[in-house]
Amino acid sequence: MHTSPIHTKTYLHEALADSRLREAVDKATQTALKKRADKVEQLPWWEELRHQAHQTKKETLDHLDRYLELFEENCQKNGIVVHWARDAEEARTIILELMREKQVQSVVKSKSLTTEELDLNHFLSANHIESLETDLGEYIVQLLDQIPSHLTAPALHLTRVDVGRIFHEKLGVPYTEDPDALLQIARARLREKFLNADMGISGVNFAMAREGSFCVVENEANGFLTVGLPRIHLAVMGIEKLIPDLASLPPFLKLLPVSATGQKATSYLHIIGGPRRASTGEGPEEVHLLLLDNGRSRILADGQLRETLCCIRCGACLNVCPIYQQVGGHAYGWVYMGPIGITLIPQYLGEAEGRYAPYLSSLCGACFEICPVRINIPHHLLKLRSRVVETGNSGWMERLAFRGFGWLASHPRIYRIATWFPGKFQQLLPGERAFPVPGYSQKRALGRFDGRGFRNRYNSWLRKRPQPSSSQEKEARS
Ligand code: SF4
Repeated sequence: MHTSPIHTKTYLHEALADSRLREAVDKATQTALKKRADKVEQLPWWEELRHQAHQTKKETLDHLDRYLELFEENCQKNGIVVHWARDAEEARTIILELMREKQVQSVVKSKSLTTEELDLNHFLSANHIESLETDLGEYIVQLLDQIPSHLTAPALHLTRVDVGRIFHEKLGVPYTEDPDALLQIARARLREKFLNADMGISGVNFAMAREGSFCVVENEANGFLTVGLPRIHLAVMGIEKLIPDLASLPPFLKLLPVSATGQKATSYLHIIGGPRRASTGEGPEEVHLLLLDNGRSRILADGQLRETLCCIRCGACLNVCPIYQQVGGHAYGWVYMGPIGITLIPQYLGEAEGRYAPYLSSLCGACFEICPVRINIPHHLLKLRSRVVETGNSGWMERLAFRGFGWLASHPRIYRIATWFPGKFQQLLPGERAFPVPGYSQKRALGRFDGRGFRNRYNSWLRKRPQPSSSQEKEARS
């Protein structure tokens, strides 16, 4: 499934017309929000954790060059082979060369949005290397040749009836919608692949510069098998995932599961600090780490938007967003979706390709309130919107509308007539009908114009409001 944010309008129409999708997304997001709220209530120091996490991320990003050098040095001391990739193309080339050198034929993958940036599964399959997603949600969307529709719950847009049908059609098993039976089917398919894979590929949740290690958090134990069973492990990491050290990790290990799935802690935490040691005899023989830039340095250099790199991909801002709740993740047209996605799309893909993205928000501020690392998403969206206009990428209708408004606002007499007209026109409409606006008033009521105009209403309000007594006035002045 190849999508692009430039076709967002089409995807939005499709999503809005799909009542089944909207029902599934609404149910899943409301459940996630409730579970999260219950857990947050039990943590009186929640705000303190958010503050700490924000500071840690900010400090690391402000000195990322220094931390990256330290991290590379310590990884190498631990026996981890570090690769650097400027962009997706270079990353794919490095991965393919490594696989050819190590004679890798089959790969098992645990969930990683960074590898989605590389479109890795399609690339590997085009190069005759079998690549299988092992997270249950990812496995399902891979069967459908879709991209994930949520940062932490890739198959959130599907119901168990859908999954039953998909397994029946794609795997040839009898139809069932029993979650346990569906789980057993997936487990049986995946087990054999784990045992025979030459390489395991994972993402990275956090990487510790001082220790030269990185961690993967997960709930299904597929990450454990991906890291632990194949002879070679490759982790693909965006350079912004770094934190200074292991001591900085605990706040994130609390904030991430509570925000993502409403759990106090994730079921599994894997800290990978190098290949198999003779003393333990466990783990992969080789560990490779690919550090991916792919536009992150550009965002880092942008003092106004750097904060967007603090994201820990918990997905809470998606769950709370009134837009995401209506349309799900595929409507955004890229790997990252929801409020944080629409700040990242134009930054990664450029203002021309991502020009619609910053407008997919009501700017209600719920994403900022819920974000565990306190990213001020509405503020960044306003900045990005202004850049869309500055770079000449806004639509002709918008340009025309604002030029028209600018002209009107600078001609008071004509402005007064223009604002008087809709109210009068409305009086001619039968009954209680509101002023019709094509498209907009199809699904919602615009409200009725008062007909008196803002200035008249304001002046009448001024005349009617109670006058302060002289003692109150004196008090207000002092
Ligand atoms: S922006 Fe904040 S709430 Fe949204 S995914 Fe990132 S960390 Fe989570």
